[in-house]
Amino acid sequence: MENPSTHQKAANNIAKTHLRNYICNMPPMQKAPYKSTHTKAPMQKTLHPTQITQTMSHVFHRNLHTDYPTAVKGDGIYLIDKNGKRYLDGCGGAAVSCLGHSDENVIEAMKAQLDQLAWAHSGFFTTEPMEQLASFLATRAPEGIEHIYFVSGGSEATESALKMARQYFVERGQPQRRHIIARRQSYHGNTLGALAAGGNQWRRQQFEPLLVEVRHVSACNEYRDKENSETTTQYCQRLLTELEREIERLGPQNVMAFMAEPVVGATMGAVPAVEGYFKGIREICDRHGILLILDEVMCGMGRTGSLFVADQEGIAPDIICVAKGLGAGYQPIGATLVSNKIYQAIKEGSGFFQHGHTYIGHAMACAAALAVQQRIEQDHLLANVQHQGNRLRAALEAEFGDHPFVGNVRGRGLFQGLELVQDKNSKTPFDPALKINARIKAKALENGLMCYPMGGTINGYEGDHILLAPPFIMNDEQNDELVRLLTLSCQQVFDTL
Ligand code: PLP
Repeated sequence: MENPSTHQKAANNIAKTHLRNYICNMPPMQKAPYKSTHTKAPMQKTLHPTQITQTMSHVFHRNLHTDYPTAVKGDGIYLIDKNGKRYLDGCGGAAVSCLGHSDENVIEAMKAQLDQLAWAHSGFFTTEPMEQLASFLATRAPEGIEHIYFVSGGSEATESALKMARQYFVERGQPQRRHIIARRQSYHGNTLGALAAGGNQWRRQQFEPLLVEVRHVSACNEYRDKENSETTTQYCQRLLTELEREIERLGPQNVMAFMAEPVVGATMGAVPAVEGYFKGIREICDRHGILLILDEVMCGMGRTGSLFVADQEGIAPDIICVAKGLGAGYQPIGATLVSNKIYQAIKEGSGFFQHGHTYIGHAMACAAALAVQQRIEQDHLLANVQHQGNRLRAALEAEFGDHPFVGNVRGRGLFQGLELVQDKNSKTPFDPALKINARIKAKALENGLMCYPMGGTINGYEGDHILLAPPFIMNDEQNDELVRLLTLSCQQVFDTL
């Protein structure tokens, strides 16, 4: 391993101070009264799920110091808890619920599939929903993408992409190609391969000894990293030169793939690349025979206004990873979309991709995802994504554009982000110990709004942003309600500073 860069060293120092503060993303909230004792807590045997409260939970929850409300019902873009409180889903959970929570077409399609067949192991059978969904995606994907490898979520999609890239080069007689290059401040999932590809220091830090070696170059973040003395074109060229140098250092013949999110979601807050960046990346990858993997798990499947972000960038990647919006939360599903070049290399070689999970191409999941995608297409919902996206952006600019604590509003379609700062001119972030992001999340929830704030926007430890990713079915009135509740929640937190 190489010596850590100055950038990484600085981040590590900050990490020592702030890791503890950040280990929980939520502010200290009411602790669950139930404490384990040597004797097991008495459990009623036949509780209806809506009667089970957090206070006697045996679930290993995400955050062990949070008392979660119990969601019991969906109603369009709202979730309802067991006390009847309604929450406007302004972030789709994590950019998942693009059709809201009660789409009748999808629910009917799932019931119909269940009456026929829930699942058949893909080592024995193919199924109609899997074949139909693959055809649907392949016929709409960027040029060259013709085959779909189904999995159960985003991390499995990116993990599969990395292994597929590796096997492609082994099959092609270039086993020395093993280096993956990705970007700092990216997120590609939480399984070990995906986590290694990701460049978010906070997410990586405690698992670092378990991660395979991946080289990270700078993210494309115009707001934070473009020098005042540079034009956007010069900034873009600087980033492309950095990648080129990294490839040369590793030896172009040893590099297998470059992986990136075309619009960076969870870790940066809806940051698109500058114009020409991805075209430049494609050109560099082509020149050196390196595969380009786009992680569209969060930003893809219509979230930014077109089915694939690659189309907006005018490029055809070798592999695209999707999940989240693919099944819209009605079923867990993800997919690795693969170019014919890669497919043929494996078909004409060993004929077997040495990977696999039990639930590959799950029939129920594919039927749900197909119904989701057909509903989006038939009801022209991507036009609504563009319309509501423009409306949301205009409202965010109006409310927060001049706000002293909001440094930047960015995003595409219904994927918008606000970056919070303590000082607008110097772009100085808030002290991470203030946990601004977690406080806004909690306050918004109290006000009946789900939004997705996160810390560590700048380097994994410093910076705060709020990510918005509401359902594609949102109307004008709901859009206004989202902005009103967000403005109120932010102001209530800012007033305490
Ligand atoms: N890739 C990106 C860009 C993501 O945003 C995520 C999740 O947020 C993942 C991969 C991992 O997806 P999952 O949580 O479904 O495993």
